[in-house]
Amino acid sequence: MKRIALWTGVGLMAAAAVAALLLFTCVFGNHTYRAATCTEPEACTRCGKTRGEPLGHDESAAACEAPAVCRRCGAVLSAPLGHDFLPADCEHPQICARCGITRGEPLGHVFAPATCTAPEICTRCGITRGEPLGHDMTAPTFQTPAICTRCGLKDGEALPPALLGKALNELAVGVPAPYTTAGYEDRDVDVTGTVEIVDHRVISGDETFPAREGYEWHVVTVRLVFSGEDAQQNGMQSAMTYGDYYRTDAEVGTTVDENGLRPFVVEYYGTRVQCWQKTCEDEEGGWFGHELRYTWKEGVLVPCGYDGTLLIFYHYRLAKDADRLFLPAGKVLDENALVFRFR
Ligand SMILES: [Zn+2]
Ligand SMILES: [Zn+2]
Ligand SMILES: [Zn+2]
Ligand SMILES: [Zn+2]
Ligand SMILES: [Zn+2]
Repeated sequence: MKRIALWTGVGLMAAAAVAALLLFTCVFGNHTYRAATCTEPEACTRCGKTRGEPLGHDESAAACEAPAVCRRCGAVLSAPLGHDFLPADCEHPQICARCGITRGEPLGHVFAPATCTAPEICTRCGITRGEPLGHDMTAPTFQTPAICTRCGLKDGEALPPALLGKALNELAVGVPAPYTTAGYEDRDVDVTGTVEIVDHRVISGDETFPAREGYEWHVVTVRLVFSGEDAQQNGMQSAMTYGDYYRTDAEVGTTVDENGLRPFVVEYYGTRVQCWQKTCEDEEGGWFGHELRYTWKEGVLVPCGYDGTLLIFYHYRLAKDADRLFLPAGKVLDENALVFRFR
């Protein structure tokens, strides 16, 4: 009986010990694992023994403004990417290539002004607006073809001078040319001598020829010489006028002012411009032996650069018929007339 009790006691003690070992240790391999986490494998809550591997994070993709996080544990795994802005252009603000968010305002177009041949055009993007202006052509003049006031484009030719291609007896400086006009005593008789343009100067002015802003004087010394039998019998009556290479209808004034200036008008670059002519006193005039000789100065005051004024010697008969000197060129330019062009 006593032995039974003893053994019972031993058995109870052993059972208690086993129970304790079961409860408080893992010596029987009875581990109690808690679940693995992202970063920790399964581990025994009692002895710390691990099993397997950590799960690893379940990483979400980072976005412009959101970091990458673990969907399981919420750990932040990387910073937000930040926006990847494309530059703004004329019509669009900055825009993120990833998420499409915008920033700021479009730049707006920068239009260069339209020209004759091109509409307004954006210097940044090249877009156009409106229509080209088209050329703004002036009328042609005797000096210039039609020309665009904006871009300078020329079109066609200058207006043709009225005397272009007409056969003129042009006087050259220093070369006497035969000149036939009326006798003085008998105006119905022709007499022939010479006209010579002795010299030609272009000056701004002097005491005889008053200067004028924007104008220049063309001054020539003219010499008429008549020494033939015809002139010796009848004398000579010359006739002279002014004309214009561009317009044969240009009129010369019929009177002179107190300075001896006779007005006429030229058309220069499409504008009518007042000009003046002056005939000086003879430097010599009359008979020198058998030679009837007159020498004097003629001047014309024209806009600088004007090249159309003509000094014309013609047969006095025409002046007599018209009862005036200084006839328009169109009335006197026949095959007998002699012309000096101030240019
Ligand atoms: Zn354990
Ligand atoms: Zn995680
Ligand atoms: Zn973005
Ligand atoms: Zn633009
Ligand atoms: Zn133009």
